[in-house]
Amino acid sequence: MKLTIFGTGYVGLVTGACLAEVGHSVVCIDIDQRKIDNLNRGVLPIWEPGLEAIVERNVAEGRLRFTTDTALAVKHAEIQFIAVGTPPDEDGSADLQYVLSVAESIARNMDGYRVIINKSTVPVGTADKVRARVEQVLAERKVEVPFDVVSNPEFLKEGAAVGDFLKPDRIVIGTVSPRARELMRELYEPFNRNHERTMFMDVRSAELTKYAANAMLATKISFMNELANMAEILGADIEEVRKGIGADPRIGYHFIYPGCGYGGSCFPKDVQALERTAQQIGYEASLLKAVEAVNNRQKQVLFAKLAKHFGGPQALRGKTIAVWGLSFKPNTDDMREAPSRALLEALWQAGAKVQAFDPVAMEETRRIYPEGPAFSLAADKYSALDGADALAICTEWQQFRAPDFDEIQNRLRAKVIVDGRNLYHPERLRSEGWTYYGIGRA
Ligand code: NAD
Repeated sequence: MKLTIFGTGYVGLVTGACLAEVGHSVVCIDIDQRKIDNLNRGVLPIWEPGLEAIVERNVAEGRLRFTTDTALAVKHAEIQFIAVGTPPDEDGSADLQYVLSVAESIARNMDGYRVIINKSTVPVGTADKVRARVEQVLAERKVEVPFDVVSNPEFLKEGAAVGDFLKPDRIVIGTVSPRARELMRELYEPFNRNHERTMFMDVRSAELTKYAANAMLATKISFMNELANMAEILGADIEEVRKGIGADPRIGYHFIYPGCGYGGSCFPKDVQALERTAQQIGYEASLLKAVEAVNNRQKQVLFAKLAKHFGGPQALRGKTIAVWGLSFKPNTDDMREAPSRALLEALWQAGAKVQAFDPVAMEETRRIYPEGPAFSLAADKYSALDGADALAICTEWQQFRAPDFDEIQNRLRAKVIVDGRNLYHPERLRSEGWTYYGIGRA
């Protein structure tokens, strides 16, 4: 089948590459000329395990093309995906300008039936707005062209996006149009061979499903962080509590890790957008507000622990802190809303210097925070420690899990670790003379 995807970010590029991989003919379009030029030279705009090889193979075999030409992209296929950003507006609601601008481009160029599929995360009711915008443009053009608007939210995880797309838990499709439904069924057929993963529902339920999923995951994290903070005061160890509750199959072990807060391009903005939706419909979303508030506070815990260790925030002036992990989670270079940013900015505010290392997010970090007297990026994890007064860990990259503690000790000025991801055993480190602070571990 032929299809077009608007947006070559994490979602658009992975979707395009993976749909080409199963044999479809895909055109990916973006308004960012530089991104498209780079993609046409084989340079990917994001770091995502396994993606480069799939893009390379499908471009070489002629199933995947990149363009900025809207007319060509709309002409290419009946199936038109929207996978552009929906960043938070000033009030926290999802900014739909990019989504609606794509809808307009499609409407200006379509000359026959199109199914317009929204893969971006958008508030309930957006499909109606897309439909209205398309109808408006068609009326201006004085043409009547049939079309359907479908919701097909994306559940991939950055860092595991290719695997998630090729072997999805579920494919949610919101439409009541038999014609669109048939096209979608055929499009996703290759992903259903093992067992049926596609779930058809009405458009509004599909739109809400995406927010419900992200809000539930964010809730699990904030819940554990709340308990972790209490465990510290109560003299308990949240890691023991985690195992204790995870054993109950109604709770499960997944996604109940305490830490220094959730970040990324999705959880913070989607929780906020859902809160905003609640406000618009006059519903008091107390739980969502609390999930967000707990997370905002949690992003400050590493700084608070460092400040307490040194005797107050003012004592951090002139200190050097080594930071391991900058991306918001492992296996991605995405720095959006990363907890590391809250720590870095608080440390600078307090007059401390930061020496940081991340396995893949260095370039992205440099783009956001240029190096200078208060900030340097080290070539490897151990060099980041040279002469630092403490080590703080923000991201649980595999290579931080079993480091050489003698090497750390040789490089640091003092044996102090503030571990935002509970990677190490507190007793073992303390018995070896370390001052070790985890999350929720009294
Ligand atoms: P992104 O910012 O990485 O990419 C968006 C791309 O869209 C950019 O390359 C931008 O140049 C392009 N774009 C903007 N306007 C355009 C237009 N008119 N025509 C063509 N291209 C245009 O965003 P992303 O992370 O891929 O997220 C896209 C959507 O998917 C968001 O709604 C997000 O919430 C959702 N989502 C993201 C993830 C994730 O893990 N990143 C997962 C699931 C869902």
